[in-house]
Amino acid sequence: MTENPTSTDYPKLLSPLDLGFTTLKNRAIMASMHTGLEDRAKNIDKLAAYFAERARGGVGLIITGGYAPNRTGWLAPFGAKLTNRLEARRHQKITSAVHAEGGKIALQILHAGRYSYQPLSVSASAIKAPINPFKPRKLTSRGVRWQIRNYVRCARLAQKAGYDGVEIMGGEGYFINQFLAERTNKRTDEWGGTPENRRRIAVEIVRRTRQAVGPNFIIVFRLSMADLVEGGQEWDEIVALAQEVEAAGATIINTDIGWHESRVPTIVTSVPRAAFVDITGKLEKHVSIPVAAANRINMPQVAEEVLTRGEAQLIAMARPFLSDPDWVRKAAAGAPDEINTCIACNQACLDHAFQNKHVSCLLNPRAARETELVLLPTRRTKRLAVVGAGPAGLAAATNLARRGHTVTLFEAGPEIGGQFGIAKRIPGKEEFAETIRYYTRQLDLTGVDVRLGTRVSAADLTGNFDEVILATGVSPRVPAIPGIEHPSVLTYPEVVRDGKPVGKTVAVIGAGGIGIDVSEFLTTENSPSLDLKEWKQEWGVTDPEKAPGALTTPVPEKSPREVYLLQRKKGRIGAGLAKTTGWVHRASTKAKGVHELTGVNYERIDDDGLHISFGENHENPRTLAVDTVVICAGQESVRDLVDELTVAGVLTHVIGGADVAAELDAKRAIEQGTRLAASL
Ligand code: FAD
Ligand code: NAP
Ligand code: SF4
Repeated sequence: MTENPTSTDYPKLLSPLDLGFTTLKNRAIMASMHTGLEDRAKNIDKLAAYFAERARGGVGLIITGGYAPNRTGWLAPFGAKLTNRLEARRHQKITSAVHAEGGKIALQILHAGRYSYQPLSVSASAIKAPINPFKPRKLTSRGVRWQIRNYVRCARLAQKAGYDGVEIMGGEGYFINQFLAERTNKRTDEWGGTPENRRRIAVEIVRRTRQAVGPNFIIVFRLSMADLVEGGQEWDEIVALAQEVEAAGATIINTDIGWHESRVPTIVTSVPRAAFVDITGKLEKHVSIPVAAANRINMPQVAEEVLTRGEAQLIAMARPFLSDPDWVRKAAAGAPDEINTCIACNQACLDHAFQNKHVSCLLNPRAARETELVLLPTRRTKRLAVVGAGPAGLAAATNLARRGHTVTLFEAGPEIGGQFGIAKRIPGKEEFAETIRYYTRQLDLTGVDVRLGTRVSAADLTGNFDEVILATGVSPRVPAIPGIEHPSVLTYPEVVRDGKPVGKTVAVIGAGGIGIDVSEFLTTENSPSLDLKEWKQEWGVTDPEKAPGALTTPVPEKSPREVYLLQRKKGRIGAGLAKTTGWVHRASTKAKGVHELTGVNYERIDDDGLHISFGENHENPRTLAVDTVVICAGQESVRDLVDELTVAGVLTHVIGGADVAAELDAKRAIEQGTRLAASL
């Protein structure tokens, strides 16, 4: 567990920032995150409650999800927009809820340009994005001017709605960024051609917005400080843009990095913390308005270090405020070990956004559901046993105790965490240890009676508790392959958790999430997530001053082993992985030279290795002369206590992997634990 420093450990983070006409109470910005609630008028109360909770938690400045300035800029058909007074009036619910909590809030104006998932999309040029089937229409010069007027109208409406400011999204490959970069701007009129012409739209939007809203309104400009795509802006252009938007009236520059179509990961968990702040620091020197650093900053100590080094004056974080609305309050109370640290998994936030589902958080299922998932104090205290301290059991135990129940948590193993204790050892998943740290502290704070190293039986539980929650999780499936008992065969917990020796050539049976993680484990000696220089080399990221788009040739670390990753299904390995992270895993195993074999039959395992064949007719028999076979063939529920407890008449609830093993992940485990805790 981390030591409890006092708030004086974060003097910079917690110090106010005077913007001249208004003061932010600290340096923490809640960066824009589209929740999906923005898209429907009926969700305005939910959105107000979501932001109010973050304002109560002490955030210095909240920025809403993106609102389009007109229909051509929608993220998706009928998405969020702010184009008329009726919509603006509705927003007053949000602004007054935030102001009542002592917070400040700005509305993000987001025009998706060629990322707009609909046939009305427009851009600088008619060039389709590789991640969108819709080809945008090239705007006429008059059309560009109309768009600028729409930005200004949107900002005026935001001001009328009571917002403290607006953020103009100029990065991430969206509309304005599409004008800025040669990659997507092939125009020859006053909006293209020279770098100055390409910047014109951004500068005009800021200048005219400032004229319209007057001096006492925050204008944040979100600026891409490295596009991480071929044909991205050159460093001189980026510096000139920052200076010109400052001169045009921006109050703050909020930096970001990489387009959505970039093939360099920028926010997934394997990206080292604060990976790009050196670039923010370079830019900061060229302007006199405050600059915000962003991307993979998730703990107060990291934020404080960035501010102390003078690389930025503000820290923008989006996901960390989903996982913990009280992030700032806890930092100020000198209790960073109470923070539910965002593990950058994207599973319930960005992956949901890309599937058009409401955004929430794997760790905090209440996020953006504050009015629906409520944990009220109980009226009748019960004696409850929770069996299993994996994510499901931990979420249930801590939330039940927080509500006032008397909770005993039994765990067979020597420590809490369940399968997260294995996940945290995978290179690039080190953040998962933070979740175990969080729950360790919460168990303490909520007074749960924790019994480690205690494998309970039904008899131990009968008669001693009012109700039992079984969260006994899953165990690895051992497939019926002839020779499976051969000494060369190991399960993934034996390899990753127990550190059993593995040879130089390895076959991994099963290419689901765990098979891919295990392949990363076997092919990585030093985790690049812990070494920024190595990580940049691996992904080909360089100083933006040296190369446009900050891209260079990737040089991955050599794998210490030869690994075969196998599945029975035909088709691409990793096809079922999530949209925002799957491609990173696939690129990483490819770079490590992992051999991928699909449509495989496992014939037998013996001293010669793993014998396989392909297809229904068992063709092309082949022997993989491997030293070790690692089984990652899915999971089975551990439910041995269910029947006995039911027969004994004990009221029993089953959650997490113990309930259903198929398609289990921590998102479901934690949500089920939390929902059950809210209901008992
Ligand atoms: P478990 O985590 O299996 O916990 C069950 C606990 O119950 C165990 O600690 C066990 O010791 C205990 N127990 C069992 N029987 C008894 C008994 N009789 N008495 C006392 N204690 C008992 N999920 C994601 O969402 N995202 C990821 O990126 C991800 N990566 C992963 C990577 C790896 C390498 C692995 C192995 C898993 C990963 N997972 C991931 C899956 C995730 O960890 C599981 O879905 C989750 O842990 C399931 O939670 P659970 O509480 O249901 O069960
Ligand atoms: P999984 O994704 O269901 O994959 C199981 C693999 O084993 C599949 O490749 C399957 O493919 C194979 N398999 C199944 N039965 C088999 C059998 N009898 N013999 C041989 N092979 C068999 O499960 P998992 O990899 O164990 O992961 C468990 C859960 O953890 C997942 O649902 C996932 O959500 C979560 N997780 C997530 C991440 C992440 O990054 N988000 C990472 C790790 C884990 P074939 O049937 O084609 O052989
Ligand atoms: Fe962070 Fe994962 Fe929660 Fe998203 S779902 S906020 S990435 S912990």
